[in-house]
Amino acid sequence: MFQISPKVPHTGTTIFSTMSALAQRLNALNLSQGFPDFSAPSALIQALHDATTQGYNQYPPGDGLLGLREQVSTLFTQRNPLLTLDPQNNVTITSGATIAIHCAIQAFVHAGDEVILFDPSYDSYAPSIALVGATAVHINLQAPHFEVDWQQVVDAINHKTRMIIVNTPHNPTGAVWSKQDWLNLIKIIENHNIIVLSDEVYEHLVFDQEKHYSAIDFPELRERSIVIGSFGKSFHVTGWKTGYCVATTQLMQPFRQIYQFASFCGVAPVQMALHQFIQQHPAHLAQLSAFYQAKRDFFLAGLKSSHFTWTASQGTYFQTLDYTKIQPKLNDVQMCQYLAEQHKIVAIPLSAFYKNPPSSLRLLRFCFAKQDATLSKATHILSACELA
Ligand code: PMP
Ligand code: GLN
Repeated sequence: MFQISPKVPHTGTTIFSTMSALAQRLNALNLSQGFPDFSAPSALIQALHDATTQGYNQYPPGDGLLGLREQVSTLFTQRNPLLTLDPQNNVTITSGATIAIHCAIQAFVHAGDEVILFDPSYDSYAPSIALVGATAVHINLQAPHFEVDWQQVVDAINHKTRMIIVNTPHNPTGAVWSKQDWLNLIKIIENHNIIVLSDEVYEHLVFDQEKHYSAIDFPELRERSIVIGSFGKSFHVTGWKTGYCVATTQLMQPFRQIYQFASFCGVAPVQMALHQFIQQHPAHLAQLSAFYQAKRDFFLAGLKSSHFTWTASQGTYFQTLDYTKIQPKLNDVQMCQYLAEQHKIVAIPLSAFYKNPPSSLRLLRFCFAKQDATLSKATHILSACELA
């Protein structure tokens, strides 16, 4: 009799697909899945049109269009002039950040290894770890500021620990790692064979006085770090699924060996369009933080008279809101359901990002990568939520 044996039987549909489908079904305002509801820059759309009409329609180089790799490399060295990167060997353009994360795990984590994650964590990490037969070791960040309890990291490390996954700026909490966080990590792992997989897809979205540090900004981490980025976040084109990986030649070679058979290459006209746009609009990335900070501030100002409470997001395009005063008895999944059904607005329950969510968790994640009109509607709805 025919039988199948799925490798990750407990992995259901992602929370992002689930919540977006719920929003569609209920015709509710969708602030759940992270994507802008405004257009990408028209010059970028035009550049994609130009790239296809100019014939960039066949496979690009497997490692990515060299011009785009050079631009990624320049962005890193502009931020940190002490860094040297060779675009030929240290940068690979990928079909989005998700596949890059997956391939980095495939390339370096063996069955039986352990990988440390900080929860709440992005939902693709744990299934990718499970697929190689390794164990995800989840460490909960400490609310309300979602800081790392470094003693827990020290306690979790053993001879099986092969990788630590860092995500800064952090989805879903908006927390940004300080220099001291990185220094703590350096000290703890310096005598261990541990690779740092650093998910920095929101690197260009940092607010107030915060500064983004990349793993490879630290000489002590350079030889052991794989940095992942995503053009989707920085250019308002999540559906273009184009990202990148930056690492030393020693780490990049095994990464590329896996990536070439997972995808072989990315999408030629998309890479050409991004290349042309970055060349012609060098100011785009520099104004991105201010653009999103204004959206965060607009969203939070609209909630001033609501019964939600919050810590302002320091990065990403997500804001978490605490609903304890409104519905203290509902868990976050129930609260999302309640908001969707009764108030026609959809968010993401933070517990979706945890293996062991704290029972006191009363937080929902809202995406503020939206037009001001959408944010206004959202704040009106949320401000109308009465106390329990
Ligand atoms: N990591 C994090 C933290 C994210 O929020 C996302 C957004 N989807 C990704 C990785 C994946 O990015 P991409 O869409 O480029 O695959
Ligand atoms: N990164 C986006 C989020 O956190 C969504 C990505 C996805 O839908 N897989 O909402």
